[in-house]
Amino acid sequence: MRKKIVAGNWKMNKSLSQGLQLVDEIIAATSDSPSNSVLKIIAPPFTHLASVHEKIKTISGFSVAAQNCHHMSNGAYTGEVSSEMIHSTGTSYVIIGHSERRQYFGESDSLLAQKVNLALTNNLIPIFCIGENGEERKTNQHLEVVKKQLKEALFHLSPPDFSKLIIAYEPVWAIGTGVTATSHQAQGMHNYIRSEINKKYGKEISENTSILYGGSCNPQNAQELFACLDVDGGLIGGASLKAADFVSIINSFAN
Ligand code: PEP
Repeated sequence: MRKKIVAGNWKMNKSLSQGLQLVDEIIAATSDSPSNSVLKIIAPPFTHLASVHEKIKTISGFSVAAQNCHHMSNGAYTGEVSSEMIHSTGTSYVIIGHSERRQYFGESDSLLAQKVNLALTNNLIPIFCIGENGEERKTNQHLEVVKKQLKEALFHLSPPDFSKLIIAYEPVWAIGTGVTATSHQAQGMHNYIRSEINKKYGKEISENTSILYGGSCNPQNAQELFACLDVDGGLIGGASLKAADFVSIINSFAN
C-alpha cells in the first residue's frame, strides 16, 4: 500500500536556530494528533540537515530531505553537495527537479536523471518533481509535458529502483502564487501520471507509487486535495514555514 506523505520544503528560509525551533513546534503539535499514519518529511537547507536529523531521529513518522544534490559523485565542484555527503548526515530523501531548480539553474531532465541515479546509488530516496507551466496548461500541453519529464528523467530506471521513488506533481503556475490546482485538475493529472507508470512498470508499481501534490497547498484546501483518489499527500512550500499551518495540513488526512 502506498504511503501518505506530507513534505515541507523550506527553500532558502530559516536560520539554524529558527529552523530547529520550527521542528520543535512541529514535533510538539503532532505528538497527540491523529497523524501517525502520515510520513512527515522536513526539507531544510543543506546547512541544517544534520541538526534536524538529530532532532527527529528518535521520533517515529519523521524523516529529513535535502532540497537538491549534485549530479556528480565528488570532485572539483566548488560549493556543491553530493548525494553521499547528504546521506552521511542521516538524511533519507532528496527533492530533485523542483521547478525553481529547472527555471533558475537551468536543470534539464537529462541532468536530473543523473542526479536520480546518484541519489539512489547513495541510498537517498528521490522526491521527483514534475509539472507544466501556465502557458503549457493554457494551451493544453500539460499531459505531454509531464509525460516527457517522466520519460526523460525517470523511465530509464529498473523496476526495483523506480519503485523507491516518490513523485510530486507541482504545476509551476501554482507554486508560490496562491493559485491552487482544483481537486479535479489535481486528480486528473495524478491519475494520468499513475497510468503512465502503469504502462511502463505495471500495475503493482503504479499502485504503490506515492504521488504528492504541490502548489499553494494550505490548511484551507489540503483536505479536498488529499481526498482525491490518486493524491497521496503534499509537497508544501510557504505553508511549511509555520508549524500551525504545516500540522493542520498533515491533519487534513485524518479529518
Ligand atoms: C514548492 O515550492 O514545492 C511549493 C509547493 O511551494 P508553495 O507551497 O509555496 O506553492
